Amino acid sequence: MSQQCVDPIVGKILAGWRYDISGLAPEMRGDYESHFADCERCRSRQRLHRIIDVGLIALASVSGGVFLLAFGVIRHFGPRHALWLEIAALVGFALSALIWLVVAVATPAPVTVLDAAKQGARLVHDRLPPEIRERLPEEIRVKITGT
Ligand SMILES: [Zn+2]
Repeated sequence: MSQQCVDPIVGKILAGWRYDISGLAPEMRGDYESHFADCERCRSRQRLHRIIDVGLIALASVSGGVFLLAFGVIRHFGPRHALWLEIAALVGFALSALIWLVVAVATPAPVTVLDAAKQGARLVHDRLPPEIRERLPEEIRVKITGT
């Protein structure tokens, strides 16, 4: 990345927050939002960090699923040393769950995923025929479209 941060002091603060301002009160966000608007470097860093967060969550989910599957397979076929294999699979699952939790708590990944899900839902909603759209319960429509 060759670009320079347009305001290194603000850039440093943002770096300390891992470029996440989703937890800030709206009235405190203004300066940082305008920095993201002005600063290509911080914007791309923000994108990178969110990709890493979501990637970690996805990876932890997949590995947790694989360990659980392994546990089921071992249970089903009952090979020799099954107990140790089962314990290993459970430990692997517990570790994956722990990583998942830590990432979910320490990073804005859930917010990012939720936003993406909302955007997807809105896209589907907008493509629905009007007669179906009308039948959606009011509260769901509000949640999707925000109006
Ligand atoms: Zn910057």
